Amino acid sequence: MSAPTSSDAGRIVAVTGAGSGIGLATASAFAAAGMTVVGLDLREGPPTERIGWIPCDVADDASVSAAFAALGDAYGKLDVVVNNAGIGARGSVETATDDDWLQVFGVNVFGVARVSRHSIPLLRLGHSATIVNVASSVAVAGTPLRAVYSASKGAVAALTRAMAADLVAEGIRVNAVYPGAVHTAVTGRYDADPDAARQLLTARMPLGHLIGADEIARAIVYLADPANRSLTGAEFRYDGGITEL
Ligand code: NAD
Repeated sequence: MSAPTSSDAGRIVAVTGAGSGIGLATASAFAAAGMTVVGLDLREGPPTERIGWIPCDVADDASVSAAFAALGDAYGKLDVVVNNAGIGARGSVETATDDDWLQVFGVNVFGVARVSRHSIPLLRLGHSATIVNVASSVAVAGTPLRAVYSASKGAVAALTRAMAADLVAEGIRVNAVYPGAVHTAVTGRYDADPDAARQLLTARMPLGHLIGADEIARAIVYLADPANRSLTGAEFRYDGGITEL
């Protein structure tokens, strides 16, 4: 991680789903760069002096509204918002129920929309303000038994482009990262199941290894970097080659 600069030091960053995995790695990366980081999650992440926490359920509008009111009271602005909170779901379109669709879209799509809606007024008061959405390689690569999840990430991809278009005139950049299979709680079950792990790697990861959460964190920090002032509406595929090879 590069040394904090004076411009990093004043920046306020909100990361949803910061309690574990990619979100925790991202919050830690921003904090290591000297920024003030607030994690929004259902529960607090591991204790650290470097990350503040606000309990927040992105699937609940009142909860998101209260969280961003608290952020506004505390800091009066935001510079970076990372829409990372997300949940997975297994199943095909035949097996997925309406409840599956509502639950996954409630977090993965409406959550991004809600957090963005409540954060944009604070971003307007920030400097080099920017939003990074966490999509997935499944938004572009057909993946078996991921019908609902894939559709939700496809929606995040389209929403990112629409948000970028809506906010471009105000100089607020909006980009998305598309991770492949990342080693987090979601994929951690493969640690105890070497055969399933090999299958996953063969099918999904041409490089032969899972992506580290710290790698995706660096990609998110890159997209949010004010030095990349001309980068908006981008889809940053960080997926070990799955969508390209
Ligand atoms: P994770 O399960 O390790 O962490 C997700 C975090 O989001 C948890 O701390 C959880 O408490 C929080 N969260 C869940 N629902 C929430 C809600 N309603 N409100 C607030 N917080 C909530 O998952 P991860 O693997 O780090 O995934 C993070 C993001 O990256 C997700 O959007 C996921 O879809 C995406 N992604 C993950 C992978 C992967 O292979 N792990 C690949 C591509 C994309």
